[in-house]
Amino acid sequence: MFAQELVLRQRTEILHALCSSGSAERLEQVLDILLSQGELTWEDYQNIQVPGRTLYNSARQLLDLVYTKGVDTCRICLAALKQVLPEAQGVCLSYSECCTNLEEKQENQNTCTETILTQRPNLVNKLQGCIDGALNALVTSGHFTSVDCDEVQLPVYTPSQQARHLLDHVRSKGESAAKVILKYIEQKQESGSPVNQEKWTPPKEVLKYQKKLSSSVSAQSCFLSTYGGTSHMSLDDIYTEGQLELAHDCADVHGPLGLEDIVGAAGTVNKEADTVLVCGEAGSGKSTLLQRLHLLWARGAALQNFLLLFPFSCRRLNTEQREMSVQELLFQHCCWPDREQEEIFQFILDHPHLILFTFDGLDELKQSFSDEHRVCCPTQPAPVHVLLFNLIQGSLMKGVRKVVTSRPEAVGPVLKKHLCKEVLLQGFSPSGIDCFVKKHHSDPTVAAKVLESLQTNTALLGLCHSPVLCWIVSQCHKELLGCGEGSPQTITDVYLMILQHFLQHQSSLKSTTGLGWLQEHLKTVLHLGKLAFDGIGATCYIFSGTDLETCGVTEKDICMGFLIQSKDISSTNSKRYEFLHVTMQCFFAALYIVLSNNIDRSTIPKLFEPQHIRDTGLSSTCFMACLPSTDQQKLPLEAGDVAAETPNLQIAATFVSGLLSQRHRTLWLHCCPSAVMEKKVRQVARCLSKGMQKHFKSIPRAVEGEKKSMHAMPGFVWLIKCIYEMQESRIAKDAMSKLQVDHLKLTYCKIGPVECTALAYVLQHLRDPVGLQLDNNSVGDVGVEQLLPCMHICNSLYLRNNNITDEGIRKLLAKGIQCDNFRKIALFNNKLTDACTQHFSHLLKTKQDFLSIRLGNNNITEEGAKQLAEGLKLNRSLQYLGLWGNRIGDAGAEALADALESSKTLVWLSLVGNSVGSTGACALANIIKNSTSLEEIWLTDNCITRTGVECLIQALQLNTHVKSVWLRNNDLSLEEVEEMTQRESRLTF
Ligand code: ADP
Repeated sequence: MFAQELVLRQRTEILHALCSSGSAERLEQVLDILLSQGELTWEDYQNIQVPGRTLYNSARQLLDLVYTKGVDTCRICLAALKQVLPEAQGVCLSYSECCTNLEEKQENQNTCTETILTQRPNLVNKLQGCIDGALNALVTSGHFTSVDCDEVQLPVYTPSQQARHLLDHVRSKGESAAKVILKYIEQKQESGSPVNQEKWTPPKEVLKYQKKLSSSVSAQSCFLSTYGGTSHMSLDDIYTEGQLELAHDCADVHGPLGLEDIVGAAGTVNKEADTVLVCGEAGSGKSTLLQRLHLLWARGAALQNFLLLFPFSCRRLNTEQREMSVQELLFQHCCWPDREQEEIFQFILDHPHLILFTFDGLDELKQSFSDEHRVCCPTQPAPVHVLLFNLIQGSLMKGVRKVVTSRPEAVGPVLKKHLCKEVLLQGFSPSGIDCFVKKHHSDPTVAAKVLESLQTNTALLGLCHSPVLCWIVSQCHKELLGCGEGSPQTITDVYLMILQHFLQHQSSLKSTTGLGWLQEHLKTVLHLGKLAFDGIGATCYIFSGTDLETCGVTEKDICMGFLIQSKDISSTNSKRYEFLHVTMQCFFAALYIVLSNNIDRSTIPKLFEPQHIRDTGLSSTCFMACLPSTDQQKLPLEAGDVAAETPNLQIAATFVSGLLSQRHRTLWLHCCPSAVMEKKVRQVARCLSKGMQKHFKSIPRAVEGEKKSMHAMPGFVWLIKCIYEMQESRIAKDAMSKLQVDHLKLTYCKIGPVECTALAYVLQHLRDPVGLQLDNNSVGDVGVEQLLPCMHICNSLYLRNNNITDEGIRKLLAKGIQCDNFRKIALFNNKLTDACTQHFSHLLKTKQDFLSIRLGNNNITEEGAKQLAEGLKLNRSLQYLGLWGNRIGDAGAEALADALESSKTLVWLSLVGNSVGSTGACALANIIKNSTSLEEIWLTDNCITRTGVECLIQALQLNTHVKSVWLRNNDLSLEEVEEMTQRESRLTF
């Protein structure tokens, strides 16, 4: 049959195959191929890609055009479809023998502009993982402006769309821009992959296996699994970049990481190890991130150094009771080779650098990581967790790259020893939230309304940094927009919103009985609650039909949408279910604790002491004591297993606190006796108070002359969050009444906006002012805003390394000015520029008791220093000013010197690393000349020459009060240093 006729006859099928996923990706890939083959002109392309046109209409337009262009174009179009569509979808299309393989267009084109056209599909693939770098190269070479970059990186574009827009822009800029981009890609390749460069092809059987594996990986990863029960959402359409950072400082890596950097060499701390850990809280998007990586690999759009990718879920590995070898693990749990299993496995063993394993959710494995039990032989059977631990350590399959995800609680020092690097997934950035909401709502007016409502409720906005909460909020937009003033404040509020949403929307009953929505569905909630509760006690997240039956879960309960069918490895197994998300399971467990009459009295106290459970090594058995004795016998628990359920118990406890909040009590009114409820409330309040006291008891006595300081122990922030969920100031006040410290240190405590909201809620009840040290967290601007309610109780605020921008500072200082106690601020290593200095200037002018400003390692220039100087001129109190590692230069130093010349309070000034030369130093010498208070001035790492130092020496001769002037690393010879040290001993070189 002629190709033309095939295109016509199969029109419906082709349209369906291209568009049914809702994602434009397939159509765009076909367009890329047709453009590169010269079958479409630019005009054709633009006529198809008309903005605002629906996907189906664009595809129809393409088919019309291809048909009118004749048989050759149709033949190539069919070949393109064959290449782009996954096998599963391609089978329903017939391509005929006239559809031959696509020709690789030669690279010997005359111009670079031609090359970017003929190599378009290839270049789109290559650019996806490095858009930032490519844009950088184009900006540096002067071809792109920031407007061009913004247009390319519109948040609604997927990475491949960004790559296409980038190429389109490059094309419009002409030959030299095309040259820059080709060179950039070439360099990128040279520095990156050692693979694929040799002209070497793997054996045919391996390639066949790869095809099968990648089409299975693609099929499993193209939809977001958690939407399975409710609606289909294509990953391409909804995926939003999360914030990825290295867990440790690394000199070579600046700024956020891209997806491909996870497996790349960047930030490696242990070259011997093969395992990368991606660490993030529940709901931060770890599984989704892996899913994205899987999909990009399967499509050939990323990780192309790896020929075979084997994805594993620890949750599913838990259900594997048999002992097996690595070979069985790979083939049975991921993809079965139709032929030549031995040959394929041998290939895997021989080429470890071409293989990638991913293990999602190490925290969900029943056993904690240990490196005691060694297995080195890939054909030796062992329990699955033992295999997994040996793979992670590299005693099995050394050289194979492994990416493991986990919640932080499950990562101990033994595991860390075996990691080549650790990457932190921090959820969505503020622009990520914006982007996600826009992607989630195809109607832009709805998206705008949701975003607007988030802007007016910053506590909720803070919660939306967690992707799972962002999803719930987007999903429940009707409830959100309808609730006006009473919009959700706490995590419990958000989960109650989705509970109501699902119960009312999925149920056919739709409140026919006139009861409250919860009362109407109480049975469902209790059935699911029991399932969740028992599951958490037994580290069980996948449930069989029997499990469901035992808890009374019916078909109707399943239909509510909280349970989804588990994607099982071996399709022969009967149906298994899991909760939409582990946090949903914790929420149902909490509902059960609150609503059930069958709960043991000790359940709540034990729930609030999970740390204790872990410490005693009793783990699950202890929690099992909370379960009715009949249930205990059913829970399988091998002796020696130390389950990883503590974080889930903590999440469940947080929900229990929230559910028992006064605000929600009317909801339970007709669901259980109020006396029972009151008792549970009292129990929780007692647990929280006791928990807090335990922390306070650990505070050591103050060393004489020093302030009494408390460093938060594990569990402190969690208790604070529980108190916040209760939203009862009586409880917060009670908890804080016993805390008597001068300094509260919460460094490296994973404090983000959500934690800031809770902290501010609780700390505002402190009796005496404290120094609040939140260094090295991820507070960000939203978190800063959340802290405002407790600013009046903070005398100093330390926010070093917290991703704060000028906007956050604007809000912080506007509030700080009104707070009598507020005297000191430290903001080392944030994202501050000259736009924040006017606010500091205003603070200095207004608050004549402010003592210390430290702004090191930001991006403040001469302009910023001049603004600061305006404030300093009128200030009579500042003692410490730190500007280490900015770029104020001579002019900035002169402005500051002029302002500080007559200061009677300045004790310490640091301008280390600020490109200050002798002009600046001579100006600063005037401060020394006149000051009666100055003790130290730091000028290390500048470019001061002899002239500058002479000025400083002369000034020092007039000042006996100054103790030292630090001048290491300036423009001075050894002889000069020697001579000047002789002349003035207070100079330190
Ligand atoms: P984790 O594995 O860290 O617990 P998940 O990956 O399961 O978190 O994410 C929970 C939910 O949040 C997902 O089902 C999805 O709805 C949403 N989500 C997470 N990450 C993303 C992302 N990058 N883009 C879009 N949605 C996301």
